[in-house]
Amino acid sequence: MIADYMRSHILSLESYTSARDEFSGYAEVYLDANENWKDFSLSGKNRYPDPHASELRRKIEEVMGFRVENTVLGNGSDELIDMLIRIFAEPGKDCVLIERPTYGEYKVFAEINGVEVINVPLTDSLELDVDAIKSSIDEKSPKIVFICSPNNPTGRSYDIDVIREIADYNPSLTVIDEAYADFDPSFVSAYTLLKDNERVAVLRTFSKYWALAASRIGILIASPVVIKAVNKIKAPYNVSLSAQRDGLEALGNADGRKAVLEEILGEKKRLEGEFGRFSFVEKIYRSDANFLLIKVSDADALYLYLMKKGIIVRNRSREPLLSNTLRITIGSKEENDKLLEAFDEREKSTVS
Ligand SMILES: *Cc1c(COP(=O)(O)O)cnc(C)c1O
Repeated sequence: MIADYMRSHILSLESYTSARDEFSGYAEVYLDANENWKDFSLSGKNRYPDPHASELRRKIEEVMGFRVENTVLGNGSDELIDMLIRIFAEPGKDCVLIERPTYGEYKVFAEINGVEVINVPLTDSLELDVDAIKSSIDEKSPKIVFICSPNNPTGRSYDIDVIREIADYNPSLTVIDEAYADFDPSFVSAYTLLKDNERVAVLRTFSKYWALAASRIGILIASPVVIKAVNKIKAPYNVSLSAQRDGLEALGNADGRKAVLEEILGEKKRLEGEFGRFSFVEKIYRSDANFLLIKVSDADALYLYLMKKGIIVRNRSREPLLSNTLRITIGSKEENDKLLEAFDEREKSTVS
């Protein structure tokens, strides 16, 4: 049972209940939450928002297919990562497992919470090292195994059968962070594993494909036991009214996102082709996300050169297995043209 892996005091915790938890429906007069009666915003912002974001979660089910009873929303998926660590891992005692290189927040939140991080390197081809992960699970009994797919910063989606093998083997929680799933046309979500395995949890975000990074909306899709635990510890109003409205608006305009996706995938292909022309580009990694990781002859120098031109990319050279790499987000056609122009100038100055 996944509940056996949670910290015991969380299970017995009596959580805060807001006035709006005890009453649902419509009332004539609300004098229960000490709000200001005057709505200066003319759009309901004087009232506390729905703590469960029920309307948005119903829309998420309709558009993305994640059932309402399997979801809870966070102030970005980063907040959900933090909450999962706090639910499962005892500070100073427990550990979580991550692969390296991967998204940096799993480690940061674990360390903030006084939870040890077990690092399992990816293979040289940047795939999951299943045997090494399994033996680390045996040896260290991590409370959470994090898998980022498509992985940031490598861009690689992992085979769903490999993820299933790890999640089935792991007796504790396996979290699959699918922040970039929408950019991979052949992606199979680990959500499909949840019906046979209550220890699977999936993270999605509105920050990338849905173009709402500023609104801070993350989705956790998990078994009802895990959802219940998150609802117990989360701040009641963690997703603002504006954010809930932004999310609804975005899901109502899915066609617009789809059109931009096609552009991003086209531009990714174009950049992959163009990058090959430059003598300082040594390798373009296969990417299933909206960014490209490239290996160059001198990443630090190129990074600074681009910065001087007003172009900011991410230098990932300090990550294991990724010496001399830059991670470049696929921008608009105009932004990508500016990047290529800067690459051209760089090429001329290095060749001559
Ligand atoms: C960008 C990103 C997120 C998004 O985090 P939010 O808090 O939802 O903005 C989550 N996971 C990964 C791997 C990311 O790259």
